[in-house]
Amino acid sequence: MELHVTDLSKTYPGGVHALSGVSLHIKPGIFGLLGPNGAGKSTLMRTLATLQKPSAGSARLGEMDSVRDAKDVRRHLGYLPQDFGVYPGVSARKLMDYLLCLKGVASRSERRDMTERLLTQVNLMAHADRAVSTYSGGMRQRFGIAQALAGDPALIIVDEPTAGLDPGERNRFHAILASVSERAIVILSTHIVEDVASLCRETAIINRGRLVALGRPAELCAHLQGRLWRAIIARPAFEDFAHRLKVVEQYPHPDGIVAIVFSQTDPGAPFTAHEPTLHDYYHYLIGLETG
Ligand code: ADP
Repeated sequence: MELHVTDLSKTYPGGVHALSGVSLHIKPGIFGLLGPNGAGKSTLMRTLATLQKPSAGSARLGEMDSVRDAKDVRRHLGYLPQDFGVYPGVSARKLMDYLLCLKGVASRSERRDMTERLLTQVNLMAHADRAVSTYSGGMRQRFGIAQALAGDPALIIVDEPTAGLDPGERNRFHAILASVSERAIVILSTHIVEDVASLCRETAIINRGRLVALGRPAELCAHLQGRLWRAIIARPAFEDFAHRLKVVEQYPHPDGIVAIVFSQTDPGAPFTAHEPTLHDYYHYLIGLETG
């Protein structure tokens, strides 16, 4: 199934334009969603997950409209929110039952069987009666994956998934996403641009509710080919360089500050040519927008 988002807008009461005319066409595979805080990512994901209605425009999964056919969409949807720890005191068994209920599994015995099967699959059956809020980060994430994968969904929405995971858990999580993305659309919203660069076939960057870039990570980086330059600059000299050049990124280094600057022509020593990454492109773009 494919996802068609057409001119989607959302204005919250009080007049915040959280999304303005976003259009996307997404095929199975991992699709990255990047943007600073407040960009509208959660609003987009909640709308696609049928948890809220758009103010204008539409989202269609296959032939199903996210408003008109919300119930059907939910049956084909896996939603992995940021943190299941926000339900204090609720056991994994109870929470899974509740989530399956939301997904439209009406029969109680069917939900019980599915809950046991899913928790077994991710090796959490021994902890089924413990509150999810007391789980470690890795356990919570395994719980999240289990419920998101229930019923073989066509669309899986994953919100900031790797916070609190150690590197091993993060790798395992990525491997699971990669394997399910062979048949399903996985929308991955994250702050970790490197994860998008390594995992996603295509990515959207949104800022202030608008789609500001869309494409394969390598294509997006190519826009900056030959225009980025890098140097390590001693702290006292940095201000002067920052005045003269357009600094895309800066971060501390034991010998001073690493500066990556944008320039159509070679700015000269100490700068050397820098191969653009998606991270650079993201900062370049968001920097342009914020001026
Ligand atoms: P992101 O997930 O990229 O951080 P959000 O979609 O959460 O962005 O928020 C986009 C904008 O909409 C922000 O300005 C935010 O304050 C506002 N917003 C989000 N949810 C609501 C809400 N329920 N009511 C009013 N404003 C909201």
